[in-house]
Amino acid sequence: MSVIGIDFGNESCYVAAAKAGGIETLANDYSLRATPSFVAFDGRKRIIGVAAKNQQVTNMKNTVSGFKRLLGRKYNDPHVQRELSSIPTKVDQRPDGSIGFKVSYLDQEQYFSPEQLTAMLFTKLKETSTAALQAQVNDCVITCPAYFTNSERKALLDAAQIAGLNVLRLMNETTATALSYGFYKQDLPEDNKPRNVVFVDCGNSSLQVSVCAFTKGKLKMLASAWDQIGGRDFDNVLAEHFAKEFYDRYKLNAKTNPRAYLRLLTEIEKLKKQMSANSTKLPINIECFMDDVDVSSSMQRTQMEELSAHLFKRVEMTFIKLLQDSKLSLDDIHSVEVVGGTTRIPAIKHLIEQVFGKPASTTLNQDESVSRGAALQCAIMSPAVRVREFGVTDIQNYAVKVSWDGEGSQAGGEIDVFPAFHSAPFSRLLTLNRKEPFSMTVQYAQAIPFPDPVIGKWFIKDVKPNERGEHQEVKVKVRINHHGIVLISSASLVDKKEDETANAAANAGEHGSAPGNDEKGNAGDQQQQQAGNGGEPMDVQQEACNENEEDNNTSTASSPGGQGWAQRVKGWFSSGTEKKKKATKLIELPMEVKTHGFSSPDLQNLVQQESKMIANDARETQRVDARNALEEYVYDMRNKLQGGPLERYVLEADREAICSQLNDLENWLYEEGEDCDRDTYVNKLKGLHSQTDPIKERANDYENAPAAFDELNHSI
Ligand code: ATP
Ligand code: MG
Repeated sequence: MSVIGIDFGNESCYVAAAKAGGIETLANDYSLRATPSFVAFDGRKRIIGVAAKNQQVTNMKNTVSGFKRLLGRKYNDPHVQRELSSIPTKVDQRPDGSIGFKVSYLDQEQYFSPEQLTAMLFTKLKETSTAALQAQVNDCVITCPAYFTNSERKALLDAAQIAGLNVLRLMNETTATALSYGFYKQDLPEDNKPRNVVFVDCGNSSLQVSVCAFTKGKLKMLASAWDQIGGRDFDNVLAEHFAKEFYDRYKLNAKTNPRAYLRLLTEIEKLKKQMSANSTKLPINIECFMDDVDVSSSMQRTQMEELSAHLFKRVEMTFIKLLQDSKLSLDDIHSVEVVGGTTRIPAIKHLIEQVFGKPASTTLNQDESVSRGAALQCAIMSPAVRVREFGVTDIQNYAVKVSWDGEGSQAGGEIDVFPAFHSAPFSRLLTLNRKEPFSMTVQYAQAIPFPDPVIGKWFIKDVKPNERGEHQEVKVKVRINHHGIVLISSASLVDKKEDETANAAANAGEHGSAPGNDEKGNAGDQQQQQAGNGGEPMDVQQEACNENEEDNNTSTASSPGGQGWAQRVKGWFSSGTEKKKKATKLIELPMEVKTHGFSSPDLQNLVQQESKMIANDARETQRVDARNALEEYVYDMRNKLQGGPLERYVLEADREAICSQLNDLENWLYEEGEDCDRDTYVNKLKGLHSQTDPIKERANDYENAPAAFDELNHSI
């Protein structure tokens, strides 16, 4: 069993594997480490990764890319509309409001969602890993941008499930980079004086900056900032510039011709990369750009910097925001590490130096450290691989609040449960006094890069009054899980029985009495807080929960993030010191939830669809292999029979008959035999073998024992 880490980039993906000898980035079927995030379709099969990107110009309508930033979103989301303006594929709104890429696949118009397309890419990465490692691959850690909200994270997990991957953790990209930095550092300081390192990742679609505190054997993310700026934005600025120039000079409007525009973007990306290394004037030439006209121009780095000044300004603002949010002074920052393709632009490095007062450090592998960090995390979490422990405490970027509906004459209320940059994973218990089923809504409590702040609504069922008709305590656990997903993970009714004798027995049994309750055994570590706002009659209380056992996280237990959030009070279960002893039992309450992601039946359906497509691709590969095998045999045999080593082992007339048959077969392969099923090719090859194998056998026999043949010749 192997464990892998996947960096799912907007432009390309990397996969790293944890092996006995260390972490290795895996090469794909083209011996490349980067697999383009491209999926294409044709009448017979899917084409994914390098091959898909390679055929984009000739199959534009059916080649899809740029779907990472659409995950978990609806078609009419303004962000989606912006993204779609630069996507050449046809995309429609589906009846349920979701996004559908319309492609022609298996000679039919078909729609695929961003989640399905991501799953297809994951299928490819899974195959790459299985081939490279010669082992079954299921467990993985997948990375996502730190700014991804609940819906996007859930969509990514759904995509992984569709592809049959078991995600041990969805990890923030900069956290993965931080782990790949910290894991091998032997000189990290002791707890009292952490080393704070800023990580800057600017890729194809976004910029992320995070600051992380390292101490011996662990890391703790402190704050993150981001903006939707990546390499493609620089490409677009340059494309605008050259499209205008070519229109002015040649009267060619590239914007009306998607293929020409795509070629322009390709050449611009090359030019942009050259400009990162070279400050002199550099040429751009495109032959037969449009109407058979060749176009050419040039650009110097300074000009690119002027054209992109507004982008650099935003990069600078993002750096400044991180500094402010982290509340660190420049002296507190040890170094600034850069990763991601776009940090190769010199102006970005200059901005780093300007804002942080330190040169950008490039000690990490700029392209592979995200996947390597993910693989390390997977190894740490998986029982299949033995690796040194390294504690990772991540953060959840956005403030979260919970509200609940009223009951009878009592009003509903709301409470802030997590401030921004709260450590994750983490759980908080809310205690409400209720006597009827009720619902709770979890939502983001600040501006987020997603149109709908609501995370989900949980309906807590089976709540009823106690024997005396009074309210009962309901404990609701609000949780940021190890994927950075916020949810209500459980609700339990506190069943209190006042009974002198029951105490011992009930206490002994109570830890296991509430299935799904992961606070068991940690009673002494509970922290509790009286809520300050809303719902007075319901007496809402908050408690932070120890996450140690559940999430293998060593540092969250007593660090609930926001200051003043919790104060230590009595334990979770009532103690036996009171005069009247109380026995407390937690009864898990059933819940229904409306939150992001596919429903279970829909997901099952998508899993099946993906399996069918995988099977179809495999069949197609076998078919093409069978055709190639037949074609190869035809050529090989003809060469051997006509002036080749087999010529002398067959009678002239037989040879001519076979060769004419081979010629016919060759013609057939290029005409009506071009598109047959696998068995047709296999049977034709069998037929050929039955005629040619005896000739080969004669040749073999002779070569092994020529003397015997000589004797035979004599006797004739
Ligand atoms: P994202 O992280 O946004 O999802 P990604 O991980 O796929 O995307 P990367 O592989 O980190 O992105 O970076 C790709 C981007 O980096 C492309 O836009 C590419 O043009 C740009 N890039 C790569 N090399 C250079 C260079 N030498 N100079 C400027 N830009 C570069
Ligand atoms: Mg990236």
